[in-house]
This record gives sequence, structure tokens and C-alpha cells, in this order.
Amino acid sequence: MREWLFISDLHLAAEQNEVIQLFERFVDEIAIHAERLYILGDFLEYWLGDDDRVEGLEPVFQALQRLSTAGVSVFFMAGNRDFLVGNELAEKYSFNIIEEPYIENINGSKALLMHGDTLCTDDVEYQKFRAMVRDKSWQQQILARPLSEREQIARSMRQQSEFANSEKNYEIMDVNQLTVQNTMQEHGADLLIHGHTHRKAVHKFEINNQPATRIVLGDWHRKGSYLRLTDKTEPELIDFD
Ligand code: MN
Repeated sequence: MREWLFISDLHLAAEQNEVIQLFERFVDEIAIHAERLYILGDFLEYWLGDDDRVEGLEPVFQALQRLSTAGVSVFFMAGNRDFLVGNELAEKYSFNIIEEPYIENINGSKALLMHGDTLCTDDVEYQKFRAMVRDKSWQQQILARPLSEREQIARSMRQQSEFANSEKNYEIMDVNQLTVQNTMQEHGADLLIHGHTHRKAVHKFEINNQPATRIVLGDWHRKGSYLRLTDKTEPELIDFD
């Protein structure tokens, strides 16, 4: 049986041992038996560049390495927290970086894989910010600065984002349904899998009278959460603790 797993929004950070241990158990008890693991963004709470040796995250990367050593293909898509993860890290720990939107054929469905932040088009202020930080030349300028400076920049960005988000209402920070439908239509997709909003759910709707599905991955706060797709069973969103 073909088994693919999808996770996002673990927000792993060096000081958060419990979630790191939860992820290691997920890898060794569950993901190790799968054929593929897709990470759809915000795997890490933040990443300042591959030259930053975050020792506390070493067990996390070792776990990814164990997967590929065991023959599990690991695909990594960046989120709004870990977009500076680069090829150096990917090569060192044998995972594959994929860019969004990523198209995958899943059981005869054309599936669109995304982090999900680009679907939150009601949050105009955030979309401007995103356009800036995902710009390659902006990233190169940032990566050219010393680590200590990057740390300060990242900290002030997180504070600004927390403050801005505290002023925004619940709807603004969710996906815009019209954007969802347009994006799916643009790529001819009938299945969309994304994270980012931390609003785990399976949404069924129609696009031009055709059935469409949007699966939102859960975050890893107290429990782990993953989507399991096989060629024999219905999609399952599973909690893990
Ligand atoms: Mn996110």
C-alpha cells in the first residue's frame, strides 16, 4: 500500500524539547513506515540561514536524515517562518526542497500543495510583507549580513507580526474562499492541501459544479498532527501524542 504523510506548522525551536521529542517519535514510529513525507511549511519557528548552526535543532535534522536513510522521501516546502532554509541544509540532511505551488498526482486527483499564507488575501498588509521577504534579492541581502544582525531583524519582525496579528480579526487571517477556488482552477486541481492557518479541517465544495476538497493540516502545539493519504483509504487527519 502506498502511504504518503503530510505535516506543517510544527514551529520547532531549539528551546522546545517536548515538541522536538514528539516529532522524533512521529518519525521513528509512524513516518518511517511511509513512502513519502511532505512538510508544508513552518516546520521551524524561524531559520536565519544555513550558516546558523542551531545545535538544539540537530535531533530534528537527524530525524529527517533517518527517514531518507530508511528510504522515505522527504519533501520540504518553506513557510513564512523558515523560508531561509536552503540547499546546504537540504543536502546535508538528504531532504528535497519543493517550491509552492507544488502539483502532485494523488490517486487520480490533481493535488495542489501549498503552505497556505498566499491564500489569505484579505490580509493585505501581510501579503505586502510576504512579497518583500520572499524576494530573492532581499533574501540575499539579508543572508549577507552577520548572524547577530539577522537575529535582531528576525526578532523585530516576529514582534511586529505578533502585534499586527493581535489587531486583526479571525476572518482576515483565514484563507479567502474565492482565492482558493481561483488558485485551484488556475492549476486544474481538485484537491488542495495546505497549512498555515492552524485550522485543521476537510472542506468540501464545488468549483464549476465539480467536487473539490481543501484539506487544512493541523499545527503541533500540544499534540502532533498529520494527514495520511493512501491508495486504499479516505484521507485521514490524525492527532498524535
Ligand atoms: Mn505559516
